[in-house]
Amino acid sequence: MNKNIAFDDGREMTVGTMYCIGQNYAKHAKEMGASVPDSPIIFLKPPSAYIPDGGQVTLPVISQNVHHEVELVVIIGKECRNVSRADALDYVAGYAVGIDITMRDIQKAAKDKGHPWAVAKGFASSAPISKAISAEKVQSNIFDLELSINGELKQKVSTSNMERPVEELIEYLSSIFILEKGDVIFTGTPEGVGQIHAGDKITASLKGYAELNVTVI
Ligand code: MG
Repeated sequence: MNKNIAFDDGREMTVGTMYCIGQNYAKHAKEMGASVPDSPIIFLKPPSAYIPDGGQVTLPVISQNVHHEVELVVIIGKECRNVSRADALDYVAGYAVGIDITMRDIQKAAKDKGHPWAVAKGFASSAPISKAISAEKVQSNIFDLELSINGELKQKVSTSNMERPVEELIEYLSSIFILEKGDVIFTGTPEGVGQIHAGDKITASLKGYAELNVTVI
């Protein structure tokens, strides 16, 4: 199993813990029937859920409603704990585009019962991530994100619309967890999430920097 994220400069980094942020765009929170939470919603995916560009998303048999969520992914370059917002970007190795593949029906059942989201969010192949662009090569961490299915645009946003920017997410996460080299942060999805089906070809992009292509089986 390939657990390495390839960088534009030839480096490779083994994927560690995947920290994911819930409801970080107001319009997506609204479409989920929620509002932006007072403190970040955090959930995890295991490293084995990662698939690289060109991979296949396998629909789990237990779900009738699997959704796409396009997200900016931040790759941590060195260990950190209790990092301030001002220093947060010193610990970023690079950026990529990812899709937080979600079993929406299983997630809803878990929410209704007050149960964790591990099954709905962390199943095998639930974390496609593109090749990464090195942090030094970008002017800022504001990107345009897009996701299309079979050529039809479904999600499009500037990450400037995030309620909590990358620096704040790193400050928060590192106040609770020890972030390590290769850990990734899925920073939340904008509005426009929807169902994926077997045979779909999904293309996601961090416009001008990275593209991710996966097939649904
Ligand atoms: Mg998400």
